[in-house]
Amino acid sequence: MSTAPVGVLGGTFDPVHNGHLRLAMEMAVALELAHVRLVPCARPPHRGAPTASPGQRSKWIRVAVSDEPRLRLDDRELLRDGPSYTVDTLASMRAEMPDTPLCLIMGRDVFAKLPQWHEWERIFDSAHIVLIDRPGIDCELDGAAAEALTQRQTDSHEALHRTLCGHIYTYMPPPLVISASYIRELLQRGESPRYLLPTAVLDDIMDAGVYQSQSATAASQ
Ligand code: ATP
Repeated sequence: MSTAPVGVLGGTFDPVHNGHLRLAMEMAVALELAHVRLVPCARPPHRGAPTASPGQRSKWIRVAVSDEPRLRLDDRELLRDGPSYTVDTLASMRAEMPDTPLCLIMGRDVFAKLPQWHEWERIFDSAHIVLIDRPGIDCELDGAAAEALTQRQTDSHEALHRTLCGHIYTYMPPPLVISASYIRELLQRGESPRYLLPTAVLDDIMDAGVYQSQSATAASQ
């Protein structure tokens, strides 16, 4: 294979935080990826609408990765109409990068629900999956997800370089117990999430008053 794989980390990023950024860096280094793309979802098909707007979520990612060439914003899902189906996103990347292996990075909790995704089996026609174990989130795989793992599992990350798509590689990055919901919860209570996300992102969230409840905003003024 001529080019190093590109990593793809999809999510709501409501907001982006150091758990996402550190995970992407760990993956870029450990799997020798060309870079990792952070792909914010416009309308997540499997959960409620994000609190922050698409423009805010993509701006924060752009700010967060601006000085790190191994991380990039890819906002294609925000630019197209309809639900954000991962299978379509990966197919459009595959068309742009016909000779580059793609590695879709996802938590085991997300992978467990993969069989509910739109045309989920076609994902393996465009990409490998890198399955990461996330601290504090235990989940058993069963049914079609467990079967896909058994059939497609590889023990070596070199397989991700040798072939364009179709393998599953599991990896456990050093744990960072940070979640966007915890950050939203802190802001709603009028407490500071400082050091859980980049300062420039937090400053913009505070300026725009995105997640604060009315009473917390009033209390902090
Ligand atoms: P929320 O708390 O709103 O559910 P989140 O923090 O889990 O959000 P998402 O945008 O849903 O963030 O996550 C995108 C991807 O990043 C998912 O695959 C998720 O498993 C992974 N991820 C998020 N936080 C971490 C973390 N601290 N460590 C490792 N992976 C993470």
